[in-house]
Amino acid sequence: TQPSSAAADPAAGAAVKATDRAHVFHSWSAQGLIDPLPIAGAEGAYFWDYDGNRYLDFSSQLVNTNIGHQHPKVVAAIQEQAAKLCTIAPGFAVDVRSEAARMVAERTPGDLDKIFFTNGGAEAVENAVRMARLHTGRAKVLSAYRSYHGATAAAINLTGDPRRWPSDTASAGVVHFWGPFLYRSAFHAESEQQECERALAHLEQTIAFEGPQSIAAIILETVPGTAGIMVPPAGYLAGVREICDRHGIVFILDEVMAGFGRTGKWFAAEHFGVTPDLLTFAKGVNSGYVPLGGVAISAEIAATFDQRPYPGGLTYSGHPLACASAVATMNAMTEERIVENAAEIGEKVIGPALHEIAGRHPSVGEVRGMGVFWALDLVRNKETREPLVPYNASGAANAPMAEFAAACKRGGLWPFVNMNRTHVVPACTITEAEAKEGLAALDEALTAADAHT
Ligand code: PMP
Repeated sequence: TQPSSAAADPAAGAAVKATDRAHVFHSWSAQGLIDPLPIAGAEGAYFWDYDGNRYLDFSSQLVNTNIGHQHPKVVAAIQEQAAKLCTIAPGFAVDVRSEAARMVAERTPGDLDKIFFTNGGAEAVENAVRMARLHTGRAKVLSAYRSYHGATAAAINLTGDPRRWPSDTASAGVVHFWGPFLYRSAFHAESEQQECERALAHLEQTIAFEGPQSIAAIILETVPGTAGIMVPPAGYLAGVREICDRHGIVFILDEVMAGFGRTGKWFAAEHFGVTPDLLTFAKGVNSGYVPLGGVAISAEIAATFDQRPYPGGLTYSGHPLACASAVATMNAMTEERIVENAAEIGEKVIGPALHEIAGRHPSVGEVRGMGVFWALDLVRNKETREPLVPYNASGAANAPMAEFAAACKRGGLWPFVNMNRTHVVPACTITEAEAKEGLAALDEALTAADAHT
């Protein structure tokens, strides 16, 4: 995985960047204020630039490359499929699409046995919501404030975090509520059990005042990811399941980020013994080697569309190259015990190390997570828990986090930073030695955050 020094080619990197700056319009960015790093290559847990700098990828490219970069079996499967059949419309039955659907269905909990394929997470959320609305004949959808569900029309409105604000059309039917999060409790709770009970009571009350007969679905990330990796207290998701059943509300779990090994199980729902009616996935299904997402659908909701058409579709639904890479990814994850590796590394290496690091750094307020899905909540003051940067901080207000991220990069570590948090989300394939290398760099970089406490 070491790039040879011959690979360093700063002039080529500068050319790539110049064309990028001229013509690529970047996501979530002020176009004139960004400085994207030109990337020359990637392998396993690392990627590298044109100047010969190699980075240990603790971001997994937006928490996506669960299988690591350039897994040879997945690359080969894409090449073989490309030689055989690159594309075919969704209306046909194709071997790789059938097999990818069968394998996803086999891995999802309960009777989620029908798979609608999309090109990514937001489209999965859009379609899950549409299915819930058509199934129930109701319009409203409830989602959590501390959530991210994608950036398309409905998905961005469902998203609770501040990325919603500029796109908020107050789209009819979206209602936000507070999920459980003891460290910054909306309910002044003092224990996980209290937080769980109060969050469920708050949800019940929200439903009562919105009118249960008007609510199609509740959508939750099983373990909210971008909003801060908040593992829900024992009993919360089972409680939501029971509330949904009682009111005839469809329960959607969004596992776009938490699914496919990230939490140390195929799906995070398994940790909590809960089966949703619809489960959205993307990212880890094939580590994004070719864009792919989808909705796993329960028998009951699938039956709604047995004799009447499902009024939705995508030209690239179940794209052969994407499905071939998904089949190869799932096979490799099983054969190479990659999900088990994520669980073991999280439990034995990353979790204990992060708790130990937190004890030594005044800027680390809380450590949260499981598997290879961890966040450090950075604070100015451990007692008051004041976040290191203000909520939705950008520009100068976010300088402390930018300094911390720069320190990580100087140490050869590529972090995932969001608001006042840094997330530790390496590939599920990460070895103990690689994890320790990254954790040492993180430990050192945290002194830059400590300077702001
Ligand atoms: N849901 C969740 C939980 C996500 O984390 C994301 C992406 N970070 C999405 C939906 C949207 O996925 P995409 O960017 O593929 O549209």
